[in-house]
Amino acid sequence: MTTTAKNNLFDFDRQGLRDLFAQLGEKPYRADQVMKWVYHRHVTDFAEMTDVGKALRDKLADAVEIVPPKTLFEKQAGDGTYKWLLGMDGSNAIETVFIPETSRGTLCVSSQVGCGLNCQFCSTATQGFNRNLSAAEIIGQVWVAAKHLGNVPHHQRKLTNVVMMGMGEPLLNFDNVVTAMSVMRDDLGFGLANKRVTLSTAGLVPMIDRLSEASDVSLAVSLHAPNDELRTELVPLNKKYPIKELLDACVRYTQRRPRTTITFEYTMLKGVNDQPEHARQLVKLMRKVPSKVNLIPFNPFHGTRFERSEETTIRAFQKILLDANVLTMVRRTRGDDIDAACGQLKGQVDDRTRRQAEFKRKLEGGVADAA
Ligand code: SAH
Repeated sequence: MTTTAKNNLFDFDRQGLRDLFAQLGEKPYRADQVMKWVYHRHVTDFAEMTDVGKALRDKLADAVEIVPPKTLFEKQAGDGTYKWLLGMDGSNAIETVFIPETSRGTLCVSSQVGCGLNCQFCSTATQGFNRNLSAAEIIGQVWVAAKHLGNVPHHQRKLTNVVMMGMGEPLLNFDNVVTAMSVMRDDLGFGLANKRVTLSTAGLVPMIDRLSEASDVSLAVSLHAPNDELRTELVPLNKKYPIKELLDACVRYTQRRPRTTITFEYTMLKGVNDQPEHARQLVKLMRKVPSKVNLIPFNPFHGTRFERSEETTIRAFQKILLDANVLTMVRRTRGDDIDAACGQLKGQVDDRTRRQAEFKRKLEGGVADAA
């Protein structure tokens, strides 16, 4: 007898699950009941879903499994930031980070095992790339955190925001990310408001347009430099999609959504992109798009050639933007004592791109500066 693999419930959003139930000859609304058990009560055993009839529970248990990612390791930073290392297949593992603040709790979610984009100041880049995460592996990260926190949507809300800013480039894993974001925003899922789910991209122009059609989430763009020459050096993807095309796509994204702004992320690298001249160039770019700027003090990692800008330099940079009426915040560094800050997520990547080996070789040869 051949056994077919079961569907993992975490791979489906509400519509997908309703369709699956219909295929099993069941009423679609039953899917809604099951979703509530899974996402509001953190139940993964059909036998415990007491308002679902026994016959259906047995049938579901035969056809569907509810398998969250395995927690390999979890750790809390001095400031309360919490990090999970979650096991995927083989030797792969990804990281998820929860950042508690007084009035909100933000979860930073990964979309790929590693990343192929090779942004020069990001530690995930040094790990190379293995594969896209499934929708189950993405929404599973939120589920693991929600269960740990005792989060109940609309009642005991601990998790208020999700940012797709962990490992990977979410727009290169489009369908799975869109499905997962649909569960994040569904009342039967995690019940987050559209604007509290943010997708961050290094700037894949055609996919920004696709996202604009497919989903209604907040958009963040990793800009990091105010001119093409510097940006191509820091974010190689810029060669394919230069700043003008990127900003045009951002304008199109906002045109479909009145009162929406795009958040531009700008990592502050000492002596590289943090000079007053850069701020003035940035002001000019920001005039073209309804925007706000998030300055991120660079978080160092082993082997990097970059350094964090001085606090006074960051404040001076911010002042130039503020004086020109560009809303600009400086992101507080959180969780850096457990390597959970922006750009420090590494997980464990069974690299298919040779980048990890290259980076190690350069480090050992003492030529990481040339990386
Ligand atoms: N690929 C997506 C999602 C990753 S988001 C993107 O590029 O937007 C991670 C954010 O942290 C990005 O803005 C990224 O550029 C920034 N970042 C990466 N490395 C960093 C570091 N070492 N210090 C501070 N910020 C970093």
